[in-house]
Amino acid sequence: MLDNLFDANAVAELDRQFADVTRRDAFRIPQHDGADMAYFVGNSLGLQPVRAADTVNEILGKWADLGVDGHFTGETQWLTYHRLVRDGVARLVGAEPSEVVAMNTLTVNLHLLMASFFKPTNERRAILIEKGAFPTDSYVVQSQLEFHGLDPVHDLIEVEPAADGWFSDEVIRNAIADNADRLALVLWPGVQYRSGQVFDLKAIAAWAHEAGAMVGFDCAHSIGNVTMNLHDADADFAVWCHYKYVNSGPGAVAGAFVHSKHGNGSDRPRLAGWWGNRQDTRFKMASHFEPAQGAEAWQLSNPPVLAMAPLRASLELFDSVPADRRYAYARSMTDYLFALVDRHFADTIEAVTPREPERRGCQVSLRIRAGRDKGRELFSFLESRGVLGDWREPDVIRIAPVPLYNTHQDVLRLANTLTEWCNG
Ligand SMILES: *Cc1c(COP(=O)(O)O)cnc(C)c1O
Repeated sequence: MLDNLFDANAVAELDRQFADVTRRDAFRIPQHDGADMAYFVGNSLGLQPVRAADTVNEILGKWADLGVDGHFTGETQWLTYHRLVRDGVARLVGAEPSEVVAMNTLTVNLHLLMASFFKPTNERRAILIEKGAFPTDSYVVQSQLEFHGLDPVHDLIEVEPAADGWFSDEVIRNAIADNADRLALVLWPGVQYRSGQVFDLKAIAAWAHEAGAMVGFDCAHSIGNVTMNLHDADADFAVWCHYKYVNSGPGAVAGAFVHSKHGNGSDRPRLAGWWGNRQDTRFKMASHFEPAQGAEAWQLSNPPVLAMAPLRASLELFDSVPADRRYAYARSMTDYLFALVDRHFADTIEAVTPREPERRGCQVSLRIRAGRDKGRELFSFLESRGVLGDWREPDVIRIAPVPLYNTHQDVLRLANTLTEWCNG
């Protein structure tokens, strides 16, 4: 780490060491007072790839020129459009191509997969999640329990984090083991959205399976951020969105994973739609549903190709950078941020994201020691200087330096703005 963390030349040199990683020129960087923002909110809405407009316009053009024949014309025909993103998405989540599908939005996919993989019985009907889960995950599991005539008061198990907000392996393992006789499903995040803690999915899946439960993962904050191996982890299913680290635009089409060991899931209940039918017999318009192979069998409708198009532009960028170099750049920027906080701002803020590199990704969550009001004041001050993080109640500012477009110099700018605020 640098001797002088505020040495602008040395910081610029750090960025030059990652010239092979950055794709900053391939993104549209939001502006503030005529200059680039320091945009640290890629964990909330990733920036727009310059090529996104081309991919959308290609569809608009085809629609204009060909009308309905766009479904069947050319390599980017809409009939098989989801296949254009399948391999790239599979690489990001560590899956076989047939195990993933881009469809719907995250919450919809979670409900759909729970319809197949949460099958409560009299003895085994509880769901285990982390306390303080992202609200949609809480609403999904509560409403699924109620849908099955169960009561969340009895059948929803929420694991308490330790005082520091983190979940140790031991706490998770014990919570699963203690409820082994009644667990139907473990639903866990890949990365906790508030603290940024990264979890060992393989271990969690093993504990869940040992207890006789299914296991699903919400990977909204994992994809495009940390190494993922959903297949090797032996997840039964997983869901994620593509608008955070995967930069595919507001409301982008989301993703789902179903492990190949479940085949096309024909022995499970399913909420089916015609697009999940085998492609070769789909247009026979038969009344009997024949599931496609793999995760595609869970598709419902013909996909919103306009909303899926930017994902192609984004995946091209991910495929152009070796994953280990992306992680190295993210690691270097977050190490730098930790060092700044420790050496210069420890009186004002503390990092509430775990320190161990394998327990964190791009996101560093900063807690404002002086509490909520001061925290909000700082957040607004940063914003007024073109430094954008995001605020999470009651007192956390999340900062996510992402390797494809952020820089150490962005982090330095954050630090300089913090200094200005502390002295002001
Ligand atoms: C962002 C996020 C979501 C978002 O759900 P949508 O259905 O895309 O609105 C869900 N779960 C988690 C953990 C998230 O971080």
